[in-house]
Amino acid sequence: MSEFDPGEYTIAELGPELKDIEDVDELEAILEAEQEGENRTAAVKLIESRIEKFGEDGDEGGGDGELDPAEMSVADIGNAVRDLEEVEDLEALLEAEESGEDRDSAKNLIQKRIDDLSESDEDEEGEAVEAEAPEERHPDLDHPTNDKRHVRAIDDGTYGDMWVYCETQQGDLLDVSREMLGKARELMDDYNEDYDEAEQVVAVLIGDDVEAHTEECVELGADVVVTAEDDRLERFRHKPYTRIFADMARWGGDPGEGNPDPADWREYDEPRYVLFPATNNGRDLSALVQAELDSGLASDCSGLYIEDAEISNPVKTGEPGTTKTFERILHMKRPDFSGFEYSTILCIDNPHRDFHPQGGSVIPGSFEIPDPDPDREGEVVEWDGDIDDGWFRVEVTDHDVLDEGVDLTGNEVVVAMGRGIGANPTKGMELGIELANCFEEADVGVTRGIVTGSYQFDANVEPYTKEERQIGETGQVIAPDLYIAAGISGAIQHKVGMDDSDVIVSINTDPDARIRDFSDYFIEGDLFDVLPGLIDAVKSGDVSEALAEAAAPGGGGDD
Ligand SMILES: Cc1cc2nc3c(=O)[nH]c(=O)nc-3n(C[C@H](O)[C@H](O)[C@H](O)COP(=O)(O)OP(=O)(O)OC[C@H]3O[C@@H](n4cnc5c(N)ncnc54)[C@H](O)[C@@H]3O)c2cc1C
Repeated sequence: MSEFDPGEYTIAELGPELKDIEDVDELEAILEAEQEGENRTAAVKLIESRIEKFGEDGDEGGGDGELDPAEMSVADIGNAVRDLEEVEDLEALLEAEESGEDRDSAKNLIQKRIDDLSESDEDEEGEAVEAEAPEERHPDLDHPTNDKRHVRAIDDGTYGDMWVYCETQQGDLLDVSREMLGKARELMDDYNEDYDEAEQVVAVLIGDDVEAHTEECVELGADVVVTAEDDRLERFRHKPYTRIFADMARWGGDPGEGNPDPADWREYDEPRYVLFPATNNGRDLSALVQAELDSGLASDCSGLYIEDAEISNPVKTGEPGTTKTFERILHMKRPDFSGFEYSTILCIDNPHRDFHPQGGSVIPGSFEIPDPDPDREGEVVEWDGDIDDGWFRVEVTDHDVLDEGVDLTGNEVVVAMGRGIGANPTKGMELGIELANCFEEADVGVTRGIVTGSYQFDANVEPYTKEERQIGETGQVIAPDLYIAAGISGAIQHKVGMDDSDVIVSINTDPDARIRDFSDYFIEGDLFDVLPGLIDAVKSGDVSEALAEAAAPGGGGDD
């Protein structure tokens, strides 16, 4: 009896697992185990096809022109061509197929294998792949991308370090830059331990007075700080910021024109990872830079980790039916479907095409700001490229600072209202305002559902429903002592704005509302009934009693 238990594998995993088993007795034992166990039709077929393959003549039947495509299904042909390494054998097979069954799908499979082998031969011979300018590829376009210096991604490039774009505004380093530096430090410390490396965190500062922040960047976790300082960079501008960042990343080298010219402070072609803030400017810059570097981008991430990834997608592995381990992959988690689902985005090389840097933008507030360590030491490197006046074709003639509006941070209590007020929007807001007024340091916030909803509010409550009071990813991030959420479902974009509150009390008619998972107290009920009771309790000083009576424990509490 074989020790191989097919029941331990899904159908998708089984193919790669069986790939190296050629012993017919062992395969028959596996078949028996499958039939006695789960007896999945697809698994049985898969094992039988291998028995057939090795049973007939004791070898794989490939490589000697013995294969008769007329006797094979297209799937069999797909499996068989993977084991053929000689283009001549494949061409013979193609000819046999053409003069026999002449199936397009079968011919495509054989031709694809021929192309792959020919391509890898070319690579081995070191023949350069010719880089074709987009203008040549698309002569029909009346506005070819003559403005963009098209840069081919590197094949088999060398990559290192995690780069963090540290955004500043009006001379101040943004908190999200600090958060990213802390996270990058943590990630690279683990990375260096796991992979026995000594790769660094590189902070990038671009602006007109950014050198003032180099020390803080080092204290927060950077090993190297790369700066580009120029009066003309006072404000964020697409063109110069993109060109400068991309040039820093390549350090003057152009992978389309031979080997990049590495800087003396590093020994790699391009960064391994890059992080940008998911701010208005950071979102713009991240997309532009990653496009310029011909890589990908996971936008608006709230979770990051580095791990090896097992991938069976043939676009990435190069061979259908195989699983390949890709090392050191930055896993970038982002909320999708309005926060009801998380996706993990991976930026993985193709067989003949690298996708580096692996990059993402990070939602502000996703990570903790680390404590600065004044004893940390780091290197400051000034970017030495030229800033072209032509990059500043857009002139900023005037600017205005928007009214900062309501600041909800600093309140001891925030009462937040969501779409649960729908049955009577004005009344719902009035109840929220009344409850907030029962506390000394308190105010009212809302979800985006309220801001973007089409509710008709009376004038007395309308100012409380505006964007300036929105809490969450695209609103304010607050951490009061007490957060009361009424009629709020708990979407991730809202959660990131209030999750750090000391005590969270939520009121919802739906006992399965997501917000329950991160509430200390969950009151199942109609806010129009519960809030008046809560207002009375606060006024009379019986809050704990009222809560104990009304609330079920939430997922976020201790009890
Ligand atoms: C890019 C992006 C950014 C976003 N940024 C933000 C952001 O910053 N902040 C934010 O809040 N959202 C944001 N959102 C929107 C977010 O995904 C949710 O759609 C929004 O938070 C939902 O608001 P809500 O909880 O008020 O409404 P809903 O999700 O509709 O929830 C209403 C809840 O009220 C309950 N309910 C109904 N009637 C009653 C009643 N009478 N009494 C008590 N409970 C009741 C329901 O059971 C439900 O759980 C963003 C979305 C995207 C795509």
